[in-house]
Amino acid sequence: MKFNLMLSNAFINQLIVNGCKVLRNELMSKHCSFNIGGPVKFFIEIPNEKSLYLLLKYIKFKNFYILGSGTNVLFPDYGYNGVVITLVGDFKYCSIKQNNVLCGSGSYLNDILKLTLMNNLTGLEFAIGIPGTIGGATFGNAGSSNKWISSVISGIEIYNSSYQKQYIDRKYIHFEYRASNINNCIITKVILQLNKFPFKINYNIQEYIQKRYLTQPIDFPSAGSIFKNPVEISAGKLIEYANLKGFCIGKARISELHGNFIINTGGACAQDVLLLINLIKIKVKKKFNINLETEIKIIK
Ligand SMILES: Cc1cc2nc3c(=O)[nH]c(=O)nc-3n(C[C@H](O)[C@H](O)[C@H](O)COP(=O)(O)OP(=O)(O)OC[C@H]3O[C@@H](n4cnc5c(N)ncnc54)[C@H](O)[C@@H]3O)c2cc1C
Repeated sequence: MKFNLMLSNAFINQLIVNGCKVLRNELMSKHCSFNIGGPVKFFIEIPNEKSLYLLLKYIKFKNFYILGSGTNVLFPDYGYNGVVITLVGDFKYCSIKQNNVLCGSGSYLNDILKLTLMNNLTGLEFAIGIPGTIGGATFGNAGSSNKWISSVISGIEIYNSSYQKQYIDRKYIHFEYRASNINNCIITKVILQLNKFPFKINYNIQEYIQKRYLTQPIDFPSAGSIFKNPVEISAGKLIEYANLKGFCIGKARISELHGNFIINTGGACAQDVLLLINLIKIKVKKKFNINLETEIKIIK
């Protein structure tokens, strides 16, 4: 372990008085869609900006990890010797002003989508079935069907490393495929700009969710696509052509339904997943001379 973080009891009490929930030695497996991850020293649910500011100032913006809803991360089996924070309460809101949607970064993408459709706003439909928060989606420029969240963002509000609140206009944010230059900060608000439809949008969300069921192993814990797609061909196809579908290490398995998903068949550990990732990289490189890059965030 590289550092030894201590939060004094007095400070923990101060957080609790300000509405935070503070858990010690909390298993990250409970907070990640992979159901994998060892204990974190402190897991803190932060319900408002005051407590976020207090905490960031106390820890001097060090030794923490900001978690959305944990659908794109892999925590190690030995855990994390710091603070994992997640934004709840006041950070879970969504309000609409004409074409603009103001979202607290802890709001779920699919809740926002439902609200926009109810208000005849179009532009976010691609997000159907993408799990997670708008904060996580913005950080990683989530998308599907060649559409990305960056195409509808007009600005974000963050807490920067000097614990100051700052608005950043879209034109100053660089987005690329499953990545952004939003680093070393906490996104607290995301502002979307959508288009107004003159009549009721008749969008069959259930139909799209059904499509995901047919192509993705959503009955098993996973973290979505493990690798970014190379330009020429999808990572899933490369893994399939390398005859790796169904291959297991421990309780982690390369999905038979979608080659780019590693699923937890029950009790998988991070080490199993990391070994599978490594194996896939080696086999794909050897067979196709293509270097696969991970899309999931692997916490060390
Ligand atoms: C079954 C399944 C299907 C999926 N399908 C898709 C898909 O079609 N398209 C797609 O793009 N993704 C997909 N994913 C991946 C995942 O859902 C997205 O990446 C999602 O946007 C992650 O959101 P999250 O809230 O879970 O973020 P987390 O996984 O909690 O975090 C992801 C990253 O964002 C950072 N982050 C989170 N919140 C904040 C914040 N407030 N401020 C700063 N940084 C923050 C974290 O530090 C981390 O680095 C899928 C995942 C699963 C399990």
